[in-house]
Amino acid sequence: MRAPPAPPRLPSLAIEGRTDRFAVRRILCIGRNYAAHAREMGSDGREPPFHFGKSPDALLPADGPVVLPYPPLTQDLHHEIELVVALGAGGTNVSAEHALELVYGYAAGLDMTRRDVQDAAKKAGRPWTSSKDFDASAVVGPLRDAAVMGHPTSGSITLDVDGTPRQKGDLDEMIWSVAEIVMHLSRWGALRPGDLIFTGTPAGVGAVVPGQTLVGRVLDLQPLVVTIGG
Ligand code: MN
Repeated sequence: MRAPPAPPRLPSLAIEGRTDRFAVRRILCIGRNYAAHAREMGSDGREPPFHFGKSPDALLPADGPVVLPYPPLTQDLHHEIELVVALGAGGTNVSAEHALELVYGYAAGLDMTRRDVQDAAKKAGRPWTSSKDFDASAVVGPLRDAAVMGHPTSGSITLDVDGTPRQKGDLDEMIWSVAEIVMHLSRWGALRPGDLIFTGTPAGVGAVVPGQTLVGRVLDLQPLVVTIGG
């Protein structure tokens, strides 16, 4: 007789200064939220924010250095460094004025993307699921409580690969602010505690290959140190 299986664990994030963890309910991602990255993806102007999702199971919590296995069925795995917002309260049709009251805290995140699969999906008018929602595609560091750090509107966001700068931006380049993003998302349906929001990436996205190490920094949040596995 086999041993009883361990109960499944909910995806969760570390919280700085605490031993309990932050259970993740949903992962929502905003596209094209930095003007220079929107241009490199072929867009111009300030279109309304759009979003896509990743499964909570796609989370790779990066409490320390982590290995990200190179995913199958792509030849073009891209990095996107992003500020991640974690919601500690919910709401529907939230005003921008009250939106930050929903925010529990912030972390550094990587929205890993099968860019070749995404490009093919765009051309064919198909969903982005297979290009965005895969094992370990949502790398997120420990959360810092907004009560400790406040709500950032500017500051450095960078990604290096093997010590070479790839992405370099400032949170003040975001087309839609965190408050505006929360407001927009809350119009589509109820936001709830445990929702994570990836807020978009600055210009400079590019491919990584097995053996490379990515270091992603957002403000002075704990950096992401991610080695691409084989
Ligand atoms: Mn992204």
